[in-house]
Amino acid sequence: MLLDTPLRYTVGIGPGLAFKLSRLNLNTVGDLIYHFPFRYDDFSSIKPASQTAIGEVITLKGEIWSIKNIYTRTGKVLTQALFNDGTSPIQLTWFNQSYLTKQIKAGDRLQVSGKLTKYQSKLSIMVPRWEKISDEKRLANNDKSLHTGRLVPVYPETEGLTSKWIVAKINQLLPLTLKTIVDPLPEEIRGKMLSLTDAISKIHLPENWEEAEKARERLAFDELFYISLATQKTRLAWKEKPTIEKLQIPTSTGRAGHDKLQKFIKSLPFKLTNAQEKVTKEIIADLEKTQPMNRLIQGEVGSGKTVVAAIIIYLIHLNKLKTLFMAPTEILASQHFATITNLLEPFGIKVGIYTGSKKQLNVIARSETTKQSSEEKRSLRSARDDGRVADVIIGTHALLSDKLLTEDVGLVIIDEQQRFGVEQRTLLRSRAKLPHFLTTTATPIPRTVALTLYGDLDLSIIDELPKNRLKIKTFVVPKKKRKDAYKFIEKQVKAGDQAYLITPLIEISETMKSVRAATVEFEKLKKEVFPDLKLGLLHGRLKGKEKDEIMNKFKVGEIDILVSTSVVEVGVDVPNATIMVIESSERFGLSQLHQLRGRVGRGNKQSYCLLFSEIEESSVINRLKNLERIDDGMKLSELDLKIRGSGQIFGTEQSGRFELKIADFSDLALVEKTRNAAYGILKNDSKLDKYPLLQAKLQSLAPNVMPD
Ligand code: ADP
Ligand code: MG
Repeated sequence: MLLDTPLRYTVGIGPGLAFKLSRLNLNTVGDLIYHFPFRYDDFSSIKPASQTAIGEVITLKGEIWSIKNIYTRTGKVLTQALFNDGTSPIQLTWFNQSYLTKQIKAGDRLQVSGKLTKYQSKLSIMVPRWEKISDEKRLANNDKSLHTGRLVPVYPETEGLTSKWIVAKINQLLPLTLKTIVDPLPEEIRGKMLSLTDAISKIHLPENWEEAEKARERLAFDELFYISLATQKTRLAWKEKPTIEKLQIPTSTGRAGHDKLQKFIKSLPFKLTNAQEKVTKEIIADLEKTQPMNRLIQGEVGSGKTVVAAIIIYLIHLNKLKTLFMAPTEILASQHFATITNLLEPFGIKVGIYTGSKKQLNVIARSETTKQSSEEKRSLRSARDDGRVADVIIGTHALLSDKLLTEDVGLVIIDEQQRFGVEQRTLLRSRAKLPHFLTTTATPIPRTVALTLYGDLDLSIIDELPKNRLKIKTFVVPKKKRKDAYKFIEKQVKAGDQAYLITPLIEISETMKSVRAATVEFEKLKKEVFPDLKLGLLHGRLKGKEKDEIMNKFKVGEIDILVSTSVVEVGVDVPNATIMVIESSERFGLSQLHQLRGRVGRGNKQSYCLLFSEIEESSVINRLKNLERIDDGMKLSELDLKIRGSGQIFGTEQSGRFELKIADFSDLALVEKTRNAAYGILKNDSKLDKYPLLQAKLQSLAPNVMPD
């Protein structure tokens, strides 16, 4: 049976089950085979009940004496059975599985697994795993038990689809599918690791812990190896294409361009940090090559990435080329539009904005000749016409999907790139001559990981904040101090400061549920907590124009407290805002909280971050308290890796580029090992000509990532 056979065409899976499976993203046989257990229950200890202590996890063989359903007043069903293994009666209890009385009858011989407890003063096993000893299906499988008496895998489940069902189904499909699986990993790399088919079958049904670990090792290797191979291959391919004509980069003193660039840098209201200078130089060095730049700037929130972008935009302009500057949200696009206009318009650059809501491109330009003239706003007919007018166009996704990517675009910048998929760059790659490509991220990913995850990009790191910054005073606020916290906020705001208040994160994505929660919180705060202050509400479901209006009001101080969902997470810059309040902060990763916190502390006033938590358990509070002590984003990100695994950093919120099922980016040794392995192969064969299986594997993994 082929891996891409849809599950609904396999025996025993009707439309109902197929739907439930699709909720777990399991649509094909291959999906199910690659649905790995997240843990195992060790039921391998088989012994008589009389020799078992309370609390022990065991497997018993015995007979059902009676079984019945009990309906509770709250509408729940308990199924209770009396079971005896010849040494002691045991009560078995299941919840909401009334159908069990049809499957298990008095007199049946069963093998049951679970933890021996006392329930209703009887020896019990709650929700035992079970199987019939005389089960014919099982005899067909060499009489090996699946659900009891061994290491039993536990899978991510969904309503109406139990781990038990998944185990049985996978066990049924494995023998049919394994023989169709070809291992693409070359022998020299596989070395002593398990073969792919062994690894797959043993990850599901290991005989012992050692086998489970060996299987995990092999599959985790694969996962990271293929990411590395994909990104590094892309890197090599990108470098092979020619870029637009070699830029006349004004590096040597005396050149007119150089003077202009220096003049611009001197005009900035501050001195560049050393890190900003270093990164600017790295970028300029790229631009002097005949290959297209493909670079990622990684730098903390507030480290000043936008200014670096502005310098490069100016440089591109001096070469008579244009820049497209893409931001992840309309709010950010508007903000960048304002910043870039401020910085570059005095140097004769026409700045345009193009977002979903501003379908018409607005170019604000003050012509160089009539220097003092007021802003001249123009709305032009078509985007293409507009594209000809502006020197730099700032926008959201719409920017690249429309026809603004003209021949004279020399640079494409994608801000906060983790929010984007790979489609944008695929689009760029389709061109004969590539523009230079620059992307930024504030997500502090440890270097080792970044080199794999972003192996297709060169990495520049801004590892220094502007000097004028004061440390943001951060407090995890206990519930009983909430009132005091509100008083503090009120006092600060009345003294002229502004605050952000991030409402509880209900779901990771901005659903109606989160929006409703934010609205309720907003009304409560407005009426009950801060009746004298001006509050504004911001969430992702507002129209672009509404968002801009609210953001602008906050910027100019017409709003004191901005109540918001976490859409303000990236990039927004309001220097007068000095307080960041985060509700349900326990739901965020430390890096995310750090990014939110980075919204304040941008001016020269003392700023504060107040973290509320729904849960006051010490483990939760201690994790949050890291933010009180640590203000280094990289350290916090490493802690995230340690505490919660990579999901926090590269989870859905950050829309990680590659989903890891079994490997973990916190395994830095493996990350490095797999990268070296990938490098070893590509070094001699950058197109993988000698490895058709690897090529096919990469195509199937990430068609978007791969170069043509
Ligand atoms: P981010 O890296 O988060 O995108 P921004 O580019 O938005 O940061 O910069 C954050 C703030 O710091 C802005 O108000 C910007 O004007 C200011 N800034 C940038 N570079 C410097 C510097 N070298 N010295 C002082 N302030 C700076
Ligand atoms: Mg930014």
